[in-house]
Amino acid sequence: MSDFKNFIGGAWVAPSTGEYFENRNPADQRDLVGRFPASGAADVQRAVESAKRGFEEWKRTPAPARGDVLRRVGDLMASRKEALADLMTREMGKPLAETRGDVQEGIDTAYYAATEGRRLFGHTVPSELRNKWAMSFRRPIGVAGLITPFNFPMAIPTWKMFPALLCGNSVVFKPAEDVPHAGHALVEILLEAGLPPEVIQLVHGMGEVVGKALVDHADVPLISFTGSTETGRLVGETCGRMHKRLSLEMGGKNAQIVLDDADLDLALEGVLWGAFGTTGQRCTATSRLILQDGIHDQFVERLVERARKLKLGDGRVAGTDVGPLVHEASRANVERYVEIGRSEGATLACGGGRPSDASLANGFFFEPTIFTDVRAGSRLEQEEIFGPVLSVIRVRNAEEAFAVNNGVRYGLSSSVYTRDVTVAFRAMQDLDNGITYVNAPTIGAEAHLPFGGVKETGNGHREGGWEVYEFYSETKVGYVDYSGALQRAQIDNY
Ligand code: NAD
Repeated sequence: MSDFKNFIGGAWVAPSTGEYFENRNPADQRDLVGRFPASGAADVQRAVESAKRGFEEWKRTPAPARGDVLRRVGDLMASRKEALADLMTREMGKPLAETRGDVQEGIDTAYYAATEGRRLFGHTVPSELRNKWAMSFRRPIGVAGLITPFNFPMAIPTWKMFPALLCGNSVVFKPAEDVPHAGHALVEILLEAGLPPEVIQLVHGMGEVVGKALVDHADVPLISFTGSTETGRLVGETCGRMHKRLSLEMGGKNAQIVLDDADLDLALEGVLWGAFGTTGQRCTATSRLILQDGIHDQFVERLVERARKLKLGDGRVAGTDVGPLVHEASRANVERYVEIGRSEGATLACGGGRPSDASLANGFFFEPTIFTDVRAGSRLEQEEIFGPVLSVIRVRNAEEAFAVNNGVRYGLSSSVYTRDVTVAFRAMQDLDNGITYVNAPTIGAEAHLPFGGVKETGNGHREGGWEVYEFYSETKVGYVDYSGALQRAQIDNY
């Protein structure tokens, strides 16, 4: 197996450092996926210089033509969906059904971006003066630095990259060090689809080195970051100081609320998928289950029974429900939270440890874990765990459920199961989250709707939907005065 390379200056190149890091399968550490560049700041420097040249060419390419490239990207992704899903599962562990969905999100994002090439609306409005036109339109910004996490190795890079490119920016892409192979495969597809080579740069490496160098670089005016709230804070401080345009998508502590009148069968399927899909490593994972008194005991009983039956294993093996955690440090972190839960007096209803099955001994597996009697305000209830741990909180009514949902520092997604249409609409209105699902789990975003969170989950921008095109373009206004005379706005009007 050969070492993988960066893509800088229109060519696949070795890192300036000469150093590489290993990428291994989290379901079986004996399986080496590849060695990837542990790049340095000099590689970022070269990438930015090249991306500046790429930008000069790309910004003059008509937006519909840019969209055509992205349509071909979508076609290529669709034709390789199975192979992409397989390599993604191999390097980050979630089952194939989920990595297929991850690729599909990228395909949807590509086709959506392609059509946006023929819109990218500005406004033409009446001027307040005679014989004068007033209009707004969009301009590209420059080199976009994109920094992404491991949990959606295809969807999240495409959410950023495709609108950035469609708007005419060039890109320096720093994928998470846990999923470099997916990043490599995506850049190969972009090049094959006909993207001019200097418009995209791929620099592998550690966040504190490559990510930081990208954020620090004076010639990168635009940064889009998805990752933890802690890292996002560091990125935000630098971008604030340097007056950069910044989109942050960060942590979550999402809740599913189940009220007494809910369809309990539906709510049960929802929470199993929301809490234990992707081994709980989703920004939108259901980390809290808020149950109304009347159904609490019977719901917990059924949930624990089903959670115990979830099949842990290699995501590439048919029948696997839950894959491994992404690395040992994540598992150690989950174990730490199990201890915290115990010490806070919560009741461990199931899971709580590593599986005893010897066939799983080479991977970072952890049992689906449920704590009941969790107190609102406790650390278990407040802090993002990013693993297969669900905290159950008992409440008396919808008001209390809403207050518990809103009582955390994050605000990504929420879910409410009820048959009462009044309560459902109140939930959409009153829950402090970027997304509220009614009778559906906390996960399920679609590419053509805006995605993001409030409070410490985000900084006001959205990915996906039409809104993201605002982020990747600058609005400019043009006035054309054809009156042949000096017309003074606000003085000579009407
Ligand atoms: P992370 O913060 O550890 O890493 C994210 C990316 O930032 C990686 O590419 C990493 O290399 C890079 N990075 C690390 N230090 C950096 C620095 N100092 N400067 C610049 N870049 C740096 O996050 P992770 O463990 O990969 O992902 C998990 C986190 O991401 C969770 O908190 C999760 O909630 C969040 N997440 C949020 C969303 C969302 O849309 N809100 C989506 C997915 C994941």
